[in-house]
Amino acid sequence: MSVSDRRGEKAAHRKRSARAGRNAEMDCKEFIRLIPNWLDGKLDGKRGAKFLDHMNTCKDCREELHIQFLVREGTARLESGGSFNLDKELSEKVTAYKKKLKRKHTENVIIYWMEAIAGAAIIFILILVFILM
Ligand SMILES: [Zn+2]
Repeated sequence: MSVSDRRGEKAAHRKRSARAGRNAEMDCKEFIRLIPNWLDGKLDGKRGAKFLDHMNTCKDCREELHIQFLVREGTARLESGGSFNLDKELSEKVTAYKKKLKRKHTENVIIYWMEAIAGAAIIFILILVFILM
């Protein structure tokens, strides 16, 4: 990556950080604050999606997440004496999380349509009753 590319990325990043807070995108401060929650699997729904978005677009925060994961899991693992490949585990964790969010989204879409269809059916029945009476 060239120097000007990096500068462009940094500037874009600053812009993102400045814009965030008005609910649209997550800023670095919030991302870092939420890392422990995410590692505990406590982040869900919209916030989880924003967390992933930020992870995808912000290299600094990816590194921060990486470090926190290593410190946390590494300490636990050293105590239990097992062998480990934490880099791989983190990327697996991210992948699993993406799948989980996607599944949630699909469920919501299905529920939405089922409700819409049920609503349409009720209206249809009401119209039928009205016509037949
Ligand atoms: Zn960031």
